[in-house]
Amino acid sequence: MESKKVNIRTKFNRSSSFFESDCLLCLSPIPFQWTNKKKSMTLICEDCCQRLPYLGTSCRVCALPIATDSAICGHCLKDSPYYDRCIAAFHYEPPVNHFIADFKYQGKLQFINLLASKLVSKIKQSAKHEELMPDALIPVPLYPSKLKHRGFNQALEIAKHLGSSLNIKVYSGVAHRVKDTRQQSELDAKTRVSNLKNAFVLQGELPMHCAIIDDVVTTGSTANELARTLKAAGVKGVELWSLARAFEE
Ligand SMILES: [Zn+2]
Ligand SMILES: [Zn+2]
Repeated sequence: MESKKVNIRTKFNRSSSFFESDCLLCLSPIPFQWTNKKKSMTLICEDCCQRLPYLGTSCRVCALPIATDSAICGHCLKDSPYYDRCIAAFHYEPPVNHFIADFKYQGKLQFINLLASKLVSKIKQSAKHEELMPDALIPVPLYPSKLKHRGFNQALEIAKHLGSSLNIKVYSGVAHRVKDTRQQSELDAKTRVSNLKNAFVLQGELPMHCAIIDDVVTTGSTANELARTLKAAGVKGVELWSLARAFEE
């Protein structure tokens, strides 16, 4: 399913006297929804929503797809990461990767509601008991010059959505990125890990159970270094929550 670059258009449906928007993917009309007396626009239709690339059964630690849910994959058995488990809602595939790119690079924050609400459902399913929920959400911080360039931290925007939906406090000023690791994607796995070493510092107190928030997890090395830093500071349980999980061949 390819994401079409179509602007959200509105039109007046004369026969029903309802305003409508068009589904961004299939262009079929979607009636506006009314929530709390406010008109809210739906970006994609019900059918397209059901066909999004949801992540199915996956490793309970790193979210790599495997045949049995709640099992642990070979990589994690051999070399377990510092985070205790990863929850991701989607595969990083079309159209989700296009939505995330539009959100990240063009500031289209409306895509967060669509994607993060699915992540909230998945987190609620995964947390069998309320007490297993973390007490802090920690968005992966951007290096200051990158934040200045982009104007916002996508991980913080996701964390705000999750925090208000799940009633968990967002700790946005505790973790700081002190190393510019911008070229990370061009490095091989080994150099990537050494490049990230000591990339984060913490300032301030954190609860014992935290969740790191990011938009996409690929190798997990960035989140893993942040998880290492959190555990070194005494945090006992670290989860990793992301909108999508990408996989390198
Ligand atoms: Zn559609
Ligand atoms: Zn795994």
